[in-house]
Amino acid sequence: MEARANPEIKFDESFRDSISTITAEGKRSWIYPKKPKGKLYNARTWVSIAFLIVFFAMPLIKVNRHPFMLLNVIERKFVLFGIAFFPQDFFLFVLAVLTFVVFIALFTALFGRLWCGWACPQTVFMEMVFRKIEYWIEGDSMKQKALDHREWDTYKASRKITKHSLFFIISFIISNTFLAYIIGFDEWKKIVTDDFSKHQAGLISITAFTGIFYGVYARFREQVCIVVCPYGRLQGVLLDPNSVIVGYDYNRGEPRGKISKSQEQKTGDCIDCHLCVNVCPTGIDIRHGTQLECINCTACIDACNDIMDKTNKPHGLIRYTSENAIKNGIKFKITPRIIGYAIILFVLLGTLVTFLALRSDISTTVLRTPGMLYQKTDDTHISNLFTIQLVNKTFADLPIELKVVEPAGQIKWVGNGILNLKEQSVAESVFFLVIPKSQITKTKTKVKFEIYSNGKKIDVAETSFLGPNI
Ligand code: SF4
Ligand code: SF4
Repeated sequence: MEARANPEIKFDESFRDSISTITAEGKRSWIYPKKPKGKLYNARTWVSIAFLIVFFAMPLIKVNRHPFMLLNVIERKFVLFGIAFFPQDFFLFVLAVLTFVVFIALFTALFGRLWCGWACPQTVFMEMVFRKIEYWIEGDSMKQKALDHREWDTYKASRKITKHSLFFIISFIISNTFLAYIIGFDEWKKIVTDDFSKHQAGLISITAFTGIFYGVYARFREQVCIVVCPYGRLQGVLLDPNSVIVGYDYNRGEPRGKISKSQEQKTGDCIDCHLCVNVCPTGIDIRHGTQLECINCTACIDACNDIMDKTNKPHGLIRYTSENAIKNGIKFKITPRIIGYAIILFVLLGTLVTFLALRSDISTTVLRTPGMLYQKTDDTHISNLFTIQLVNKTFADLPIELKVVEPAGQIKWVGNGILNLKEQSVAESVFFLVIPKSQITKTKTKVKFEIYSNGKKIDVAETSFLGPNI
């Protein structure tokens, strides 16, 4: 395809080599983005409402009296979509993380930062909750700036107090929801309804999370995306010239310049109105090309489309596109990189689904007690001492029966043994396995156990039995 790049176009050679929100003196340059409006902003608002409903409702959803989602990192208990995972499922967790990383790489190679602009919790809360409150109380960008520069008086104090009180209340609500994801809704309810002195750790967590969320949304803001978020930092390696970006069509827009009715139009479609810069929540000028700070929020697309309407030009001077589409007119291309990612993702996903499907309801580990040799119980039998650990991954109590199937032998529990395995629990016990001497033909004999519940075989375990040197 013939290249469309215009060799005459020269970019501003003095373009910054530092981030847009830090001044040359290293101070924060506060952003006052103009309130966006337009089709994409409206669509994002609806997506955000859906996100917020799901976010706040999720901890309340239960399946068979148990949370649908639980991310209890403290007790290492995880419930994802109603399925409980234990530390024993660690390999599944590693596989799921690997699959997710490859999915992210593929998704970003194809669609760029679509996630950041539309569904990232940071963007949704910042742009669709806190920023909307700010516009509502303090007005649009110019009014906010004026208010910040105004001397303290009742007007300014009332607005600032109202805004920050609301910010604090919402941060408090987010904090409680966040904690409910970690410890579960029922445990969270105990913290806020029980005697406070019994739940000091929980209350400290709620206070700390509230402080963090308030700090992020009231002050730190876009810096999360620019300097903290690892996904944002990885864009440089995840994107390629064919990835979807929010891009400025410099072939169409340059040379930029004001419209003059009296002269023949010698400039491109960009009238240099700076609206795309004014609405940007990270304070960048997208006309300089793809930049680290761009979270693909689409505010500049809406702003520019509005100007195009006013200047009778077609929409899309700033649009969802790719570097390759702007430069060479190539709309979409499946690259070897995308094919490679897709193949790896397919293999990983297949493996993960297979392991999940084959995952048993319980996990059994039987180990010979370390440091113990065999014991002679009488002239015809010898025994070994074993430790058994059973993990019940289900949400039901399971009656347990342990059988030795190979070689024939007898299990003698030390104590009561494990007769009943409580839901979502780990139980350990010790037993002797007594085997007739006639069955032992070598020093280490393979032993196979079967675990039954209500007459149904639910797991098998193998280990070795130590015998005399024959
Ligand atoms: S909003 Fe559009 S026309 Fe205005 S400066 Fe930005 S790119 Fe140019
Ligand atoms: S450049 Fe446009 S899409 Fe990127 S962050 Fe700024 S307004 Fe959003």
